[in-house]
Amino acid sequence: MKKDIWYYLALWRKCFPQHRKLLWRGSWLENDYCQDCRYCCGPQDSPIPYPMHLLPEQVGPETGKHLYLVDTHTAILDQRGCKALGSEGCSLERALRPVACGLFPLVPTKRGLFLYKNCPAVLLTPLVQWMDLAQEAGRFLCRIPREHLQHICLSIAPEKLAESHIFLHIAWGKNQHDHAQGKRFDNAKIR
Ligand code: SF4
Ligand code: SF4
Repeated sequence: MKKDIWYYLALWRKCFPQHRKLLWRGSWLENDYCQDCRYCCGPQDSPIPYPMHLLPEQVGPETGKHLYLVDTHTAILDQRGCKALGSEGCSLERALRPVACGLFPLVPTKRGLFLYKNCPAVLLTPLVQWMDLAQEAGRFLCRIPREHLQHICLSIAPEKLAESHIFLHIAWGKNQHDHAQGKRFDNAKIR
């Protein structure tokens, strides 16, 4: 039977009796739940691999040794778990981790940012705090060149994502260029 949100809420309450720190670090989310969780880096329930785009500076001759790849610029996370996951957590230095890893449980899609519901940091943190973190993440994503952003964004149908994610109504697309030109992202982000 598929585990639902109530299963995860009970599990995470037991594992994390105290709330932990979440902080936006300019290009990634510091999440103090991760060190005792690692749920999203491990073997996945879904038979569909989760694609994680790599920026050009993250690709080298050793990349395939550390990550499962579907092509030179796309790592995947699947039912095997992530190849980079070691006993102490992620074995990659932060600069080499896919952008998606630094954002998760925030998930960029072509429609905007979603929030993965079953993460302990999501279930145990007020949504208002996530809205602030998501705005920071949205500003960061707006600075990524469009040719990379379009690969970083998942192209899963919103209806499908809604089963396990919350849509945060923070969009980009043409807004990313407004931002790059110095216009206020704040005016365009909520829809
Ligand atoms: S599910 Fe959430 S808390 Fe757990 S490792 Fe992933 S991002 Fe961190
Ligand atoms: S690269 Fe590191 S952070 Fe990303 S899924 Fe793999 S183990 Fe987790």
